[in-house]
Amino acid sequence: MTAQKPRILTGDTPTGRLHLGHWVGSVENRVALQDEYDCYFLIANMHAFTTRADKPGEIRESTIEIVKDWLACGIDPERASVVLQSEIPAIVELSWYFAMLIPFNRVMRNPTLKTEIEAKGLGDHYSFGFPLYAVGQCADILVFRPELVPVGEDQVAHIEMTREVARRFNQVYCDVDPQTEDADYVNAGGLFPIPAAKVGRIARLPGTDGVNKMSKSLNNAISLTDSPKQVKKKVGQIYTGRQSMDEPGDITNSLFQYVRAFIKDEGRIKELEDAYSKGDNIGDGHVKVEVASAISELLAPIQERRARYEAPGGDELIVEVIREGIKKATPMAEETLELAKSAMKLDFARRSISFT
Ligand code: ATP
Ligand code: MG
Repeated sequence: MTAQKPRILTGDTPTGRLHLGHWVGSVENRVALQDEYDCYFLIANMHAFTTRADKPGEIRESTIEIVKDWLACGIDPERASVVLQSEIPAIVELSWYFAMLIPFNRVMRNPTLKTEIEAKGLGDHYSFGFPLYAVGQCADILVFRPELVPVGEDQVAHIEMTREVARRFNQVYCDVDPQTEDADYVNAGGLFPIPAAKVGRIARLPGTDGVNKMSKSLNNAISLTDSPKQVKKKVGQIYTGRQSMDEPGDITNSLFQYVRAFIKDEGRIKELEDAYSKGDNIGDGHVKVEVASAISELLAPIQERRARYEAPGGDELIVEVIREGIKKATPMAEETLELAKSAMKLDFARRSISFT
């Protein structure tokens, strides 16, 4: 008998193209962990509707483009399962039950939701479904009963809520003692492990606006498909507020976060930090040229791999990868739902999902 690998679940919302923040915050970890873990990578296309219900064409296009980005980054659909949220009914069903395990006010206090409402200018006009996505995300994760969720820092609040829901379900429906340590929930008879967030090498990459986190929706992102010319232009826009090359610079500024994120040579990082903090004849422009070239060096092989899917027939290849992923992910999702419903005394009938 082969030992089962521990599982990972994480994913992206198809609201645009992947950017450097995704790479350093999560995708880099996904690629690195594909062998050690049984990986499920989710495209949260239903959640994209929470802010763009009137743009189904864009959501579909982003879905396909993000899967292209994943494959270009080195995610291997033979090893990992690509999961399209809208085709996994167990996620929606679990979301409904989980919504009863978490107080409304707790959801609305979620700091990531608050920041998103502000940064995306949603005011008080957001849909009922918008805050509901935070509950849905608990189901996205728990339906695969993972141990680890590789994410950027902004998602940690969501994972915390997911952990609360998992504990609560296990206590209410599986009779697990509330005093149980997180690591022991499954051994104590719980259905759901209490999953841990694994934050990437750079927890929160700022956008080129130097204020918000780099984000698909905020027009401040360097995308994985940007050409060296576009990268140079965008890096050039990073605002530092520094006036001259003789002025001591602040190495905690956004530009230096890019220096540490993308320049590989530790010695060179140190040199740049020393010279910049002393104001030793080093201008922002010089640092930006080095940062831009390090970024383009990182992106070159990704873009080379992506070219295959940009050629005619590329979209069809991606749709096939998505179909295969749905088939691979469905048994695990259905098994979790069946176990959850049975724990909830809802075991009236059994079903199986078939594909044509
Ligand atoms: P949106 O603007 O639509 O919310 P996004 O750019 O925030 O898009 P998501 O799909 O919400 O991207 O996030 C996908 C994953 O990438 C999450 O794990 C998130 O934490 C991580 N991530 C996104 N932006 C950054 C960033 N700037 N730095 C580090 N990690 C990030
Ligand atoms: Mg986001």
